[in-house]
Amino acid sequence: MSRKVALIGATGSIGRQAVEIVEAHPELELVAAASGSTPVDGLAPLTQVGGDLTELLERAEPNVVLNAVVGFAGLPVTLWALERGVDLALANKESLVAAGALALAARERGGGRLLPVDSEHSAAFQLQEGRERDSIHSLVLTASGGPFRGRTCDELADVTPEEALAHPTWSMGPKITIDSATLANKGLELIEAHFLFGLPYRQIEVVVHPTSVVHALVRFRDGASLAHLGYPDMRVPISYALTYPNRAATPVPPLDLTSGLTLEFEAPDLDTFPLLRLAREAGERGGTYPCAYNAANEVAVAAFLDGRLAFLAIADVVEETLAAVGGEAAADLAELVESDVEARRLAGDRLKVSA
Ligand code: NAD
Ligand code: MG
Repeated sequence: MSRKVALIGATGSIGRQAVEIVEAHPELELVAAASGSTPVDGLAPLTQVGGDLTELLERAEPNVVLNAVVGFAGLPVTLWALERGVDLALANKESLVAAGALALAARERGGGRLLPVDSEHSAAFQLQEGRERDSIHSLVLTASGGPFRGRTCDELADVTPEEALAHPTWSMGPKITIDSATLANKGLELIEAHFLFGLPYRQIEVVVHPTSVVHALVRFRDGASLAHLGYPDMRVPISYALTYPNRAATPVPPLDLTSGLTLEFEAPDLDTFPLLRLAREAGERGGTYPCAYNAANEVAVAAFLDGRLAFLAIADVVEETLAAVGGEAAADLAELVESDVEARRLAGDRLKVSA
């Protein structure tokens, strides 16, 4: 049976790999493609650049929406799919982080599937499928540690965007690459995992694992742990989500265990990379704190990439923004957007102070 795919964020790192997966599978049909500003003509029968992408989705009538937009801008796409019960393959973690409770309520009403594309979450989803919640002791998300693993704050004071953009194990869009260097990406993923799997934060741990071969582990109450391993290649989780539950073939080779594979793990350095700690605090406080965390981080990362903010000041901007917001839960989308706008304004004010 053919599955009609709408690909939003088609020109990005995830989007381009998704096109490759769709082209390799005759049963997947790309019915719509969209981007924020780069042309997408000819990629699908229906295309759109910018604007309200939910109109495109209405016309496309997809069976599955792959949300590969970067940032809070992906929220309408996430909510559209969840509200209608259309399967959502979610790469856009920022929308679930910012709107967790609203998104889960929409999924409850819509009744569709939420299939994570983030590699750690795809792994965690696969490890937990069919297991009793009570049998799970904890979930472990792995982090590569980024290009600055092992460095001290002093050594990070004047790193440039170019240095921060050189990720050791994953090739990704610029925003998530900076998030990986600050560990904000793992902070966002911690909150993402909380909403995806309904686990309290104390049952979700982050460990640094430099080779990114183990994507996640689940520890069970009987002392057993299951791990998900594979070469770091986003085509695997993209394909898993788009062809679920069939686990279609991909061009990625099976793991070679005899070629010097090393599996090392260490605790993250929360003093040098405070954005991971701040995410856990924001998540535990709940309400719109995760939304504010995400918004301030987006503002700060854009400023860093622009050369207007120092690397270490990204965390300062987020911390100061979180200290200034009210954080009350949002009753609806309008209130959530208000929280996002307010956090961006506060973060923008901090930028002026830091400049
Ligand atoms: P990217 O910057 O390479 O691509 C972003 C895409 O979003 C582009 O197609 C862009 O045109 C589109 N876009 C931006 N603003 C938009 C808007 N307002 N409306 C519609 N489209 C818009 O980013 P990426 O690395 O592909 O990441 C996309 C998402 O996937 C992010 O949320 C990221 O955290 C997540 N993710 C990425 C990877 C990866 O390997 N790249 C891995 C895990 C998760
Ligand atoms: Mg990830």
